[in-house]
Amino acid sequence: MKICNSDPSSAARATGSIPTVATRTLIVGWDGADWDILDPLLERGDLPHLASLIARGSRGVSRSCLPSHSWAAWPTFLTGRDPAGHGVFDILEYRPGANRRMPVSWRSILAPTWPQRLSDANRTTLLVNVPLTYPPPQITGVAIAGGVIPQGSTFSHPADVGPALGWPINGGSWTTFRHRPLDLLADVERVTERRAAAMKRLMDEQPWDVACMVFVSPDRMQHCLLEYVHPGHPRHAEVAGGEVAERVRSVYRLLDRELGALLERTGADDLVMLMSDHGHQPCTRALNMNRVLEHLGVLTLGRGSGLVSLLAWGRLRSIARKVYDRLGLHGKVAVPTPPIDWSKTVAYTSVTSTGEGVSIALAGREPEGTVAPEDYERVRDEVAAKLLAFTDPATGRRPIGEVRKKEQVLSGPYLDRAPDLLLEAAPLYSLTHARQMVEEADWLSGDHRPEGIYVTAGPGIEPGRGPVISLADFAGRIVAAAGLEPDADWSRTADAEPVPVFTEDEEREVEERLRGLGYLE
Ligand SMILES: [Zn+2]
Repeated sequence: MKICNSDPSSAARATGSIPTVATRTLIVGWDGADWDILDPLLERGDLPHLASLIARGSRGVSRSCLPSHSWAAWPTFLTGRDPAGHGVFDILEYRPGANRRMPVSWRSILAPTWPQRLSDANRTTLLVNVPLTYPPPQITGVAIAGGVIPQGSTFSHPADVGPALGWPINGGSWTTFRHRPLDLLADVERVTERRAAAMKRLMDEQPWDVACMVFVSPDRMQHCLLEYVHPGHPRHAEVAGGEVAERVRSVYRLLDRELGALLERTGADDLVMLMSDHGHQPCTRALNMNRVLEHLGVLTLGRGSGLVSLLAWGRLRSIARKVYDRLGLHGKVAVPTPPIDWSKTVAYTSVTSTGEGVSIALAGREPEGTVAPEDYERVRDEVAAKLLAFTDPATGRRPIGEVRKKEQVLSGPYLDRAPDLLLEAAPLYSLTHARQMVEEADWLSGDHRPEGIYVTAGPGIEPGRGPVISLADFAGRIVAAAGLEPDADWSRTADAEPVPVFTEDEEREVEERLRGLGYLE
């Protein structure tokens, strides 16, 4: 089953008959928002603005892509392509000539984006805080970069607009506030208020055809405070009545008020969308995927560095098929952080930030890979079966809910760089954040699941329950609402490569910040 490819017919049912040219379009992203969390808050009356948007709009589930972390998911939103279509699979990537993996950036997105498409057609876009938009795209309108941004860098386009709005506005790093929920919440609240204030001013002062802002606060809270708002968390009943729970709910009320304030700036002829890039599910146990693979007998951690081998491998490969080799060095092979004994390894974690991807150590592709091409399918099936059968010794449960082959869930010109297997956690498990093979989740109570949300309202949209759509569907809808034909072929040539963005100091700084967000060990 393709879960991330655009299905124009379902998108059309969900978002009104295409083409409906709206006067303007407002898109509000709530990173990680999930109906299982929002519905109880709606029932309590905590989210009146969302409730009235739902009453006049179409609500439903928007399925994320795999991997579902922000750095892969938001580019899917921006390009209408799954990760094999835009080329971003992890938080770090290889670049040609580089001797280690670099943080990904806007320039790692190797497919055209809807903000660029609108800009080319002279539509004015306000693009604010969408993850992975650093360096800010030079669009018609204003772009304020989202994601992790080096200090002192130019983070907005035009360059003076961001600082004039009080940006950079940083915070919400959930791992920084370990076991200090009230401090984290105060920080998340401050960031939400200040970013919303900047967006309101921008919408008031600048002309716009499309305005898009992402609030990352739901995701940050839901990674470590999900028990307070998710009825499916085993601790929910015990903690839902306390002070922290009330403070968490108050941040959702703040998000709702700010949603209302942005909606106030639209009219009846405008298309509005609230959406998330993925949902969240409770977790009480966490995995370390490389340790799991080691336990399953398919990976041996050892001494030595994969890096040297990688470079040697790159030189070897460059003898033949030059362009293809540049791709290979760029990101097809993701050498995991801990050193690996490649002579005793057939599979390794290739989405190291979230554990959502495992790849086969294929001879001729991975450095010192030993699995012969003719054995690839058999080995991949065996590894998939072992992962699915893997049992948590402490609970007897199976932590890995789904294992899919890349070609079953992804398509596009960068499929060869994708992890060979894509994993989804079983209920109550996270595929990352553990040091041991499996351990109790500590300052971690939620992790991503594919089922995100959408609510759309505006001209031609039937109120009521809409179908399940894909995160990749929004790009075409946004472009169509602006009166443009969605591109039939939104993909660049296969030899497109990301361009160096960060200085070495900036790379270190960005990696530090990614650590703070829980993405890097
Ligand atoms: Zn997240």
